[in-house]
Amino acid sequence: MTLVPPGSTIGIVGGGQLGRMLAMAAAQLGYRSHVYAPEASGPAAEVAAAWTQAPYTDGEALARFAGQVDVITYEFENVPVTAVAQLAGIGHVRPNGHALRIAQDRLLEKQFIATLGGRTAPYAPVEDRRGLADAVAHVGAPAILKTTRFGYDGKGQSRLADDSAATLDRAWSEMGGVLSVLEGFVAFEHEFSVILVRGQDGAVRFWDSPLNVHEAGILATSTVPAPGAVQAQLHEARTLAARAAEALDYVGVLAFEYFAGADGPIFNEMAPRVHNSGHWTIEGAITSQFENHVRAICGLPLGATGLAAPAVEMENLIGARANDWAAILADETAHLHLYGKHEARPGRKMGHVTRLRLGAQSGA
Ligand code: AMP
Repeated sequence: MTLVPPGSTIGIVGGGQLGRMLAMAAAQLGYRSHVYAPEASGPAAEVAAAWTQAPYTDGEALARFAGQVDVITYEFENVPVTAVAQLAGIGHVRPNGHALRIAQDRLLEKQFIATLGGRTAPYAPVEDRRGLADAVAHVGAPAILKTTRFGYDGKGQSRLADDSAATLDRAWSEMGGVLSVLEGFVAFEHEFSVILVRGQDGAVRFWDSPLNVHEAGILATSTVPAPGAVQAQLHEARTLAARAAEALDYVGVLAFEYFAGADGPIFNEMAPRVHNSGHWTIEGAITSQFENHVRAICGLPLGATGLAAPAVEMENLIGARANDWAAILADETAHLHLYGKHEARPGRKMGHVTRLRLGAQSGA
């Protein structure tokens, strides 16, 4: 155990909204935050005490940053593993780089899950157009072609409705010819996530699993409690996530996304960080994912993860929807979060709103 006491400085690699919410939770516990990001500014800038602007490949800047902070974490999973390895040679990086390396590569991720006994959609690697034809023959259609690296929020993906040559041509050209993986289309009834925190002593706690609804590949809502069909799959889904955390000697918050399939949970992807489907925990759980991440990486006791209300819903505010903030606030149980982004581009996560369903007895 390495205790990083309140008053210390937490280094956060990446300066987006996850960094912003981490820094706010850190400040509540008496920590300072120092962000490292290639951009000049970002959502985390307004709430962090210090900001280093430098590329992830700048060895000198990374070394300086590592020397100025007491523990390092990341909010962005496409940080080059070489940068994380350098930081880990100087300071304490939590979670460690193994989870990051695996989560950055969809093929490695699926292989890792298979070694742990988890179930994934049928898949095949694709290196070129001819390989795509072989992969479709193996996996079948409909299917989804995904870049193995750097995909997020449905980006770097192309859907194949059938196995015609024209469909394969279009899909391959949409991917820009980069190494990809073809996944069979899962006929799922629900999507859900398992969000856990693992402390330095190996203790694991789970939050309630939300039902997640995606629109155009982007998370739209997360709701707890999830329906019974999801609850019935939680034991298996949690067991796999906990096994992964253990195998990786993971410290901090880890998120697993699943499809609820006919025969049990089907692993979709993992995120070695706090997760969008856990934003509801800020007001909807006794301890939020952000606070428990800070507690875990700093070696503090973990907080309880139970629900703070009988039901909670988080809605992402995407693009121009964030302009409806006044109407959203008309609901007095709504907690509005805006990330301070200036331009409401379509598909951009501008904020979120969490609504607590308090039940009959509470309220004025
Ligand atoms: P991803 O970025 O891989 O999480 O994909 C974004 C969203 O696309 C998922 O949350 C699903 O709604 C959908 N999706 C991705 N992969 C599949 C699949 N193999 N079968 C069905 N839907 C999928």
